[in-house]
Amino acid sequence: MNEPNPPRPASALDRRSFLAVTATGALAAAAAPALRAAAAAVPTAPAVARAPAPFELPALPYADNALDPVISAQTISFHYGKHHRAYLDNMNKMVAGSDLEKATLEQVVAAAAAGGADKSALFNNAAQAWNHTFYWNSLTPGGGGKPEGELLAKLEASFGSFDKWKEEFAAAAKTQFGSGWAWLVQDGAALKVVKTANAETPLTKGMKPLLTLDVWEHAYYLDWQNRRPDYVAAAIDKLLNWKFAAANLAKA
Ligand code: MN
Repeated sequence: MNEPNPPRPASALDRRSFLAVTATGALAAAAAPALRAAAAAVPTAPAVARAPAPFELPALPYADNALDPVISAQTISFHYGKHHRAYLDNMNKMVAGSDLEKATLEQVVAAAAAGGADKSALFNNAAQAWNHTFYWNSLTPGGGGKPEGELLAKLEASFGSFDKWKEEFAAAAKTQFGSGWAWLVQDGAALKVVKTANAETPLTKGMKPLLTLDVWEHAYYLDWQNRRPDYVAAAIDKLLNWKFAAANLAKA
């Protein structure tokens, strides 16, 4: 687990681009009503993880030891290699042979959310698959610091100052009771900090996620034990990927 990940093959990128262009139209023509509704519900969702069914575990965007010492290679080996993979494997079993088999991950999440209690297991696994890919991309070695340009201006307009934003995001991450996530989202014209429990994701609540931090214990316990506030502070200061957030903000 200490070898850097190989670069993603060009074919995977081409395939994602192709699907991003064609998936919504093809599904609208051919799919079941629940799926058509799901496709319509997420036209602007950040497309972070798409491969044809079975869904594949996306490569980490950095080596597994690149976030050390905030997040060790050992944590990555379990969190990415076991937890994230298990969510994906579970989802693949549930969508196999169903009308969601050819959907994008975002469409599976939306359809499962719309399906209520009957689809809660599918929602939990699909949303966690999406949330985790979004999380890996929300972090980067040498990250942290301060965003620039439009993103910084919007943060200052919505929170008063960048430091106030940091305080609010850290508070959300620290006070999420039990397992969950802290998020920076765009909600209409404003940027907001929200927290979600378990697998819940702003993706299904009409908000555009810009950044997230996983605060499930499996995200930090090997490195920080019960000191979630220290993990949160270190991740904010050293790992947040503001380029990823700015790219998400720029998406229509
Ligand atoms: Mn996690």
